[in-house]
Amino acid sequence: MDLTDVKTLKNVFLKHDFIPRKSWGQNFLVDKKILEKITSIASLSEKDTVIEIGAGAGTLTTELSKRAKKIIAIEKDKKLIPILQEVLKKRSNVKIVNKDILSYSPRFHLGRCKYKIVGNVPYYITSPIIRKFLEEDTPPAELVLTIQREVAERIIAKPPNMNLLAVSVQFYGVPEIVSFVSKNSFFPPPGVESAVMRIVLNYQRKNKKFRERFFKIVKTGFAHPRKQVGKNLSLLDKTADKDIRLSSQAVLDRMKELSINPQRRAETLSVEEWINLTNGS
Ligand code: SAH
Repeated sequence: MDLTDVKTLKNVFLKHDFIPRKSWGQNFLVDKKILEKITSIASLSEKDTVIEIGAGAGTLTTELSKRAKKIIAIEKDKKLIPILQEVLKKRSNVKIVNKDILSYSPRFHLGRCKYKIVGNVPYYITSPIIRKFLEEDTPPAELVLTIQREVAERIIAKPPNMNLLAVSVQFYGVPEIVSFVSKNSFFPPPGVESAVMRIVLNYQRKNKKFRERFFKIVKTGFAHPRKQVGKNLSLLDKTADKDIRLSSQAVLDRMKELSINPQRRAETLSVEEWINLTNGS
């Protein structure tokens, strides 16, 4: 069965009395070339375990299951589960899980085993999904995600056009846009253009305490993006949490040491500069 053929896909939906819901980000991939691109960029081998986010009708799941050892296919919509069971019935290395990805713990099925994340994700929760997996105690080696093009472009931003999302993602890993995807590659077509993005995580993760301090400084620095970063950071004392000890004076002194001009805007600072700022504060 070729589910990239819209007629076939529609028939499957009809048979199961399923109507795609916009509010759940249900746009199904019907473009063989993009499917091929996603699976090849994830460079899967028979050693890989993949968690797929939003398995839908199992189109991408089928391709992933041909190349990897095991696929955990997460799908929130229980109406899609009978379709997934039918489409994937011969794929013995796929485990279908009817759950919300945001409340799913990879440890549950995988323990501490290594894994990759792949998915054509529901766009209404793109940022929470990315944040969740970057911050996981047992994070994936990499993520290959189809997301809104505009969000993908914000994630790969460089100084002087940085933003909080770009700093967050680039702190944890190296993001790249692999391909742009047109609306017509989906059924039904979404309202926005898309992109396939790959994020390879840093092997060395900073410890939790450092991460808390780092994000406290970065978030305060970006509190008013139009204002000077020094002015924003002088508010650190007022906003500091009890367990994150940071003084605005120490951060401002550290800026001086590093020759970071406090009159610059947060969007001009590199991830390296934010890390150095955290290191001595
Ligand atoms: N992977 C399929 C479907 C992509 S559409 C394909 O490429 O064709 C996005 C899918 O995510 C939908 O099936 C939708 O039901 C599912 N979804 C939406 N919110 C979700 C959530 N919170 N957790 C898991 N899946 C979700």
